Amino acid sequence: MDYKKIILKKGKEESLRRFHPWVFSGAVAHIDDGVEEGDVVDICSNDGKFLAVGHYQIGSIAVRILDFSTRRIDKKFFEERLRKALSLRESIGLIRPDNNAFRLVHGEGDFLPGLVIDIYGGTAVVQAHSPGMHFARDIIASALIDVSGGMLRNVYYKSETTLPYKAELDPQNDYIIGGYETNIAVENGLKFRVDWLRGQKTGFFVDQRDNRLLLERYSTGRSVLNMFCYTGGFSFYAMRGGAKLVHSVDSSAKAIQLTKENVELNFPGDKRHEAFEDDAFKFLNGIDGRYDLIVLDPPAFAKHKSALKNALMGYRKINAKAFDKILPGGILFTFSCSQAVSKEQFRLAVFSAAAQSGRRVRILHQLTQPADHPVSIYHPEGEYLKGLVLYVE
Ligand code: SAH
Repeated sequence: MDYKKIILKKGKEESLRRFHPWVFSGAVAHIDDGVEEGDVVDICSNDGKFLAVGHYQIGSIAVRILDFSTRRIDKKFFEERLRKALSLRESIGLIRPDNNAFRLVHGEGDFLPGLVIDIYGGTAVVQAHSPGMHFARDIIASALIDVSGGMLRNVYYKSETTLPYKAELDPQNDYIIGGYETNIAVENGLKFRVDWLRGQKTGFFVDQRDNRLLLERYSTGRSVLNMFCYTGGFSFYAMRGGAKLVHSVDSSAKAIQLTKENVELNFPGDKRHEAFEDDAFKFLNGIDGRYDLIVLDPPAFAKHKSALKNALMGYRKINAKAFDKILPGGILFTFSCSQAVSKEQFRLAVFSAAAQSGRRVRILHQLTQPADHPVSIYHPEGEYLKGLVLYVE
């Protein structure tokens, strides 16, 4: 045992024995003198037995576990974890010349709690969600370059909005290694301009990749509305799938501009596409009888449990609107990316919306996040993306 210790209250080691990667502050009996936020600590049971090593932080989650054996958390540790993350993605065929945008590290799902890394061609965008990962950012960046076998040249650090603000770490978004280069990434053969400097999250939502492919299959001959389009992801798949027309809507001018640029990249001059800068509710109110395929992929309505009730109401209202407006025989792709909203709660909100509309609705598919956003079986909280594909008569 190398690090300063955190000792748990009696009986509070059970969840760690089941490999759950968090220690809640209520389980902590003692913290060694001098332990600071972001430090690596050893966690011991009340009778002094070593349990795990992790990053300490102030808040309701006190420690995020990095390993259940005694070991140093150094560059070698990160190299090992990153190599595993990379080889998983390679082994399931995610890294290809026609697909160079993917999530390399999905926090607990890759046994690196507090860390998210998305890859866009030669650039990795790194997000720290814990002070411990923030302090480790330089060795993480260097380990990334070393394990990537020449695939990566740039590491951009983007944690201004993801770290607990009370920690006052004041992280600057900047390149740790390399600098700006072409930002055109490819997903399933479609090109996207990814704006990691100014875009939301790491610049692009890789988590809808598989669901976009499914939408492509159902788009033939349909009139498609892509609501909350952001960079237009679903729209180009619909176009490639042979949609009759595709309308993309977002309230952000920047998103609409990116969507238009991306359409031009893939389908120059294609008149089937139009983009509208508008509010979702306002737009949906005026669309009677126009669309027989609608995508609703709103931002997380509930970032925290406290916002749950309003979020569920939000999902019910927006879905009710879509049920009211979609043409008979229409297909609705509806999503929630709020971690605080469970699969059951989301489904209930959509069911109430369907009932309210009085339409006959059937579930065709139940969707979730793709394989590069794995969920540790010991940490079911890692599942956040929920989707339903519904057939509306
Ligand atoms: N479907 C997208 C991701 C959507 S992210 C993809 O596949 O990449 C959510 C988007 O909703 C953001 O771009 C945000 O600008 C937009 N948005 C938020 N509130 C909105 C509102 N009231 N009306 C329309 N768009 C909104």
